[in-house]
Amino acid sequence: MLGSFTLKLDGVSCPACGSGELNHLIVKPSDKKGGDPIPLRECRNCVFAWQWPAQSDFLKSVAHASQRYTSDQENEYYKDERRKAVAQHQIEYVKDLHPKGETILDVGSGDGAFAAVAAEAGWRSIGIDPAMPRESEGNPILRMATLQDLDDGEEFDVVTLWDVIEHLDSPCDVLEQAARHVAPGGWLIVETGNYQSLERVQAGGTWWAYAADHRWYFTPSIVRHALEAQGLSGAVLAPRVLRPNADKKKKPRASVWRAIRKAPKGIVEMRLELQRNAQIRSALAEWPDWYHLSIFTAAAQKPSIPFEPSA
Ligand SMILES: [Zn+2]
Repeated sequence: MLGSFTLKLDGVSCPACGSGELNHLIVKPSDKKGGDPIPLRECRNCVFAWQWPAQSDFLKSVAHASQRYTSDQENEYYKDERRKAVAQHQIEYVKDLHPKGETILDVGSGDGAFAAVAAEAGWRSIGIDPAMPRESEGNPILRMATLQDLDDGEEFDVVTLWDVIEHLDSPCDVLEQAARHVAPGGWLIVETGNYQSLERVQAGGTWWAYAADHRWYFTPSIVRHALEAQGLSGAVLAPRVLRPNADKKKKPRASVWRAIRKAPKGIVEMRLELQRNAQIRSALAEWPDWYHLSIFTAAAQKPSIPFEPSA
């Protein structure tokens, strides 16, 4: 039903499926060496995780992002090049999805690296971010703004949120606002880390995506559900990670014999290795369509005929 999927947290049940079967996890933040461990809840039913209690909020996220863009000049050239390379992969995907698209809005655009690459690729491009370090006019237009600052009725062929929803207090509210600015026949595209990835399973409590500023650890099914709850349809998952050198990795072998050979040291190591082995086999079996995606990109389309809720 439209708008019924909200991901509101109550601390006792899964905000996605409502199950009360939750694991309590403590993980290491990858962004701060020696930073406080992060408490997570993980739903045993839909295998999705979120911070509880939350370690961040909207204002802290904005402050964190602003700081990132204004400090740390070291390797700036490399970082710019890297962001541009990532944006090239992203815009290629956008073009494949919407070959006739002309206008694009990037929400949470950071310093506008993607918006600039989109403009170079021929789109009329706007990037908005509450932590925008420099505003500009022309193409791209870069504004220090959120979706709420846009005019009603301002529509774009494509609206993108690259690595944004994991930071938000209320991701579904933002998706709802974003969907309102998608033109009929246009696409809303969301990218985030994949909790149902083999990489996450193999990394244990030290996965790269664990960070104080990442409140949610999404799965493709949940993002698809969230997009469809906004009246979008035809949800698709990009078949690859939109990053340079992110070709599909070889399918790992996870036989019990391999585990025994790999951990001959003692009964404790053996048990841990067998446990991890079982988790890997389960990931391969349960998530065959996305276990190989460490970061996933989901997209859904606004119907060409305006959506009318049935009476
Ligand atoms: Zn759940």
